Amino acid sequence: MQSPSATSKQDREKYPDSPVEKPPVHAIYQCLRPECRLRFPIMVTSRQRIKCPKCGSPTRLIATADISKINITNHPLSSGVPLEALLDNIRSALNVGSIFRSADGAGVQHLYLCGVTPAPGNTQIAKTALGAEFAVHWSSHWDGVEIASMLKGQGKKLWALENTVGSQSIFEPFYEPDDRPIVLVIGNEVSGIDPGILQQCDRTIHIPMLGAKKSLNVAIAFGVAIYLIRYLTSKQIHQFSGADTSTS
Ligand SMILES: [Zn+2]
Repeated sequence: MQSPSATSKQDREKYPDSPVEKPPVHAIYQCLRPECRLRFPIMVTSRQRIKCPKCGSPTRLIATADISKINITNHPLSSGVPLEALLDNIRSALNVGSIFRSADGAGVQHLYLCGVTPAPGNTQIAKTALGAEFAVHWSSHWDGVEIASMLKGQGKKLWALENTVGSQSIFEPFYEPDDRPIVLVIGNEVSGIDPGILQQCDRTIHIPMLGAKKSLNVAIAFGVAIYLIRYLTSKQIHQFSGADTSTS
């Protein structure tokens, strides 16, 4: 088992000027060749800004993108039921990186990386996590079934994100009588969640599909589900109205 990442949320609060929070200054440049006119973002310190990446012609500065103005104030939704996630044999490091980023955004407290799921240190995770892999606690485990039992033993609820016979749409209202932590379980891109984990889950939820495909990309599905669970289990929502758990 690995120890949690060095840069936790608490660390970020203690050190607000950490590199994770300081975005590089970008600007929008445009190609001067009338037939091209490509508009593209680039760091203002980059030497390549003076040359069109498509045709090589000279460029000019069009606008600056002041992304430091993005509102990063904590929303009241960040309180409520503690959320964690179990990643069972996720094959793609790019998916894992993307899941780290969504987990950070939705205030997920821990990611259990099980089976062959790649762990931070992998360059492809860094590509899509963009620093979020240093902000969310994680641990690696060979046996996902074992860790699922352990989490159940700690009183946590396991929710599987999988389209199965009897699974419930994430848009169906649900009521949780207590504030026990919820662990969202997602499975392998092809084979899904290990049956040994699935049978331990308290609830199985799925995202309704309107097209030809039977499921979304696992990282996209995780992002949709974790934000909805965060919203629906928020203490504030329950305080305002008991009926507000419906999303119709
Ligand atoms: Zn050009």
